Amino acid sequence: KLSKRLETVASFVPTGAVVADIGSDHAYLPCYLVHKGIAARAVAGEVVKGPYDSAVRQVRTEGLTEKITVRLADGLAAVEEADGITAITIAGMGGPLIVSILEKHPQALKNVTRLILQPNIHAKAIREWALEHGWALQDEVILQEDGKVYEVLVLQRGSMDLNEAQTLLGPKLMNTKSAVFVEKWSREVANWQRVQQAISNAEQTEENKAKFDELTHLIALVQGA
Ligand code: SAM
Repeated sequence: KLSKRLETVASFVPTGAVVADIGSDHAYLPCYLVHKGIAARAVAGEVVKGPYDSAVRQVRTEGLTEKITVRLADGLAAVEEADGITAITIAGMGGPLIVSILEKHPQALKNVTRLILQPNIHAKAIREWALEHGWALQDEVILQEDGKVYEVLVLQRGSMDLNEAQTLLGPKLMNTKSAVFVEKWSREVANWQRVQQAISNAEQTEENKAKFDELTHLIALVQGA
């Protein structure tokens, strides 16, 4: 059975999509998508030999070799023009790593209409990338599983306007203020306050002051929940 995290990612894949799952590890997500009849075909990309081998094995075990191609490649180098990929999933990595994968082979995104990205940390990096590269947030979800908090960001082509707080917190997540959201940011605020208190006034740098202002702003936002 797929984790709640990957099931959430899967729920945003349009029916009939041709999917590339980058950093696929066991290829659980593409196998699920094809089995459920959500994806027509899929490519599973892995840069590390061990996970690549597990992906190959999993696809074979599930009898999906006709519909899922596993490739050993760095990021979007796994995508070939002839694949006709329409949706890309990248899950289980930090936001900055996901961004670096998207930036390294931009031509692979040519015919892609939807990106479903699941950063473990620092989703902000993805919202910043989207703002700069003509992608708009279609949806976003925050969820908790096994004591960890995950965000899922769904992007389509288009433009959007995000202020600083929205870029950090997520425009939709910030409006919805779910219990998981409030808990995550209350914890972040508490951590930052501890750091702030540990720094004496003489040591205050511009950067720290800016961080503190951001923090003050966040406290107001989160406490308004
Ligand atoms: N996507 C799966 C999930 O969400 O359960 C696996 C997540 S696993 C923590 C991250 C995987 O990404 C690892 O198997 C790693 O080898 C792979 N990875 C990291 N950087 C990559 C890159 N540049 N290109 C392809 N795969 C990469």
